[in-house]
Amino acid sequence: MPPHSLAGKTGLVVGVANKRSLAWAIANAAAAEGASLALTYQGERLEENVRDLASALADPLILPCDVTNDAEMDAVFAAVASRFGGLDFLVHGAAYALREDLARPFSETSREGFRVALDVSAFSLIALARRAAPLMEARGGGSILTLTYLGSARVFPNYNVMGVAKAALEASVRYLASELGPKQIRVNAISAGPVKTLAASGIAGFSSILQTYRDRAPLRRTVEGADVADAALFLLGPAGRAVTAEVLFVDGGYHAMGI
Ligand code: NAP
Repeated sequence: MPPHSLAGKTGLVVGVANKRSLAWAIANAAAAEGASLALTYQGERLEENVRDLASALADPLILPCDVTNDAEMDAVFAAVASRFGGLDFLVHGAAYALREDLARPFSETSREGFRVALDVSAFSLIALARRAAPLMEARGGGSILTLTYLGSARVFPNYNVMGVAKAALEASVRYLASELGPKQIRVNAISAGPVKTLAASGIAGFSSILQTYRDRAPLRRTVEGADVADAALFLLGPAGRAVTAEVLFVDGGYHAMGI
């Protein structure tokens, strides 16, 4: 099988808001490699967007999923089991923080803002992985992929509580990889460079972060959804079969720079 082929595989993609979403870039690339997909949307507000985008795919399953709602997550996995009889990969691209927490001083983060950011952006990976695992076991293994950012380890202006959530997310990747590895389920993250998406538009001063990457990343450019999607194909498909518990940087090399 070609190293990136996902022919005959089924995947669930959580976190598509619109055509700029990193999760959409990955879904599109996975479908082009032959995967059958289930996509979720958060709330009726995004349903039409996701249905419009998904009309380009071959007969996708489209379901509502707010990752703070256990019953909705249960229904998603029941529908995936009934349509596909198992699951080969899961893409987790959900993240959220209260807008005010991405603009005010970090020390003023509220208890509720902390709870919401960690629940939606980190705990949701655990909640989804727990439900995906039996369906992946039915296929003899699987691949789980989440999206993170260097703000987990370094300070970026206004990234604030989302940086704390990403640190928890990356630690969760390692614990899940350790626990699910014996079932041949791999768990990895891509740490993407900044991309102008809906979520990114909530971060005050995001344009200046983009410019810093253009000026200082070894490749002297920012990354695009397609760059992230190609790396995702590696981690989701047969080429990445021995890779787990990894955070793979797709950021033009910016993470290596001291100054
Ligand atoms: P995006 O298109 O806005 O995607 C974020 C998704 O999370 C949206 O679909 C959003 O839906 C969803 N979401 C928020 N709360 C949710 C909930 N309770 N239940 C289910 N879904 C929920 O932005 P993106 O940049 O592609 O983000 C995807 C992932 O990449 C995130 O984890 C982000 O942190 C990560 N990432 C992004 C960058 C970047 O620069 N863009 C860099 C590194 C990592 P709503 O629109 O309804 O909130």
